[in-house]
Amino acid sequence: MIIDSHCHLDTKVWGDDDGVDAVVQRAYAAGVDRLVAIGSGYGFDSAARALAVARRHTQVIAGIGLHPHDAKEFTEEAWESLLELARDPKVKALGEMGLDYHYSFSVREQQLVAFRTQLRAAKKLGLPVIIHDRESGGETLELLDQERAWEGGVLFHCYTGDRATMQKIVERGGTISIPGIVTFKNADSVREVAREVPIGQLLIETDSPFLAPVPHRGKRNEPAFVPLVGAAVAALRGMPAEELCQITAENTLRFFRWD
Ligand SMILES: [Zn+2]
Ligand SMILES: [Zn+2]
Repeated sequence: MIIDSHCHLDTKVWGDDDGVDAVVQRAYAAGVDRLVAIGSGYGFDSAARALAVARRHTQVIAGIGLHPHDAKEFTEEAWESLLELARDPKVKALGEMGLDYHYSFSVREQQLVAFRTQLRAAKKLGLPVIIHDRESGGETLELLDQERAWEGGVLFHCYTGDRATMQKIVERGGTISIPGIVTFKNADSVREVAREVPIGQLLIETDSPFLAPVPHRGKRNEPAFVPLVGAAVAALRGMPAEELCQITAENTLRFFRWD
């Protein structure tokens, strides 16, 4: 079994529903069994688009939320409509959410409000959270601690942080997802983390449409490439790719409470 634990199947990327469905079919053809569609990162309304894909495909679930880049869009009204969608049984997580001080497309205060509000909502809804963390200088962990978010399930997606932070995350019971960056020449620190995350807390993802793994680097990324990520991580850990994919798939099902 192989699962892409994080991909953006948004019509803003793939043109229309047919374009999105073709991406899903190519993933199946490449041996990918299931996909997690992320409804976050393309504006507040990307949540509805991710849910639509999940409703059309039995092997696709959705995580929906407000990306730190879009935190400036946070309004009471938009938030209420997102909460409405989150009650759909096909929504298995809130996110991606978090802090991104690399781009700072939204100011820090807005990012903190959006993040905190979503963490609290996830608790009420009984959903795990998908975290996007970039150059937050430890603030993301602090907030997760303050809000006691760990027990509900916390996934750091597209992990490019350092080893010390990885250890803090796994100590707290968090999960780490490794992207295709692990195949890039200059990504030694990602490889170090990919080797050392406890196997029961490890997932793999494409984060498509960006960050396509080698040999597709620079092209548009898609879930069909997630076996390349699995193979790269397996090689680092000295185990068969099939076994690594199976274990990370089982971890994904458990994390999202997905039957
Ligand atoms: Zn992200
Ligand atoms: Zn993403």
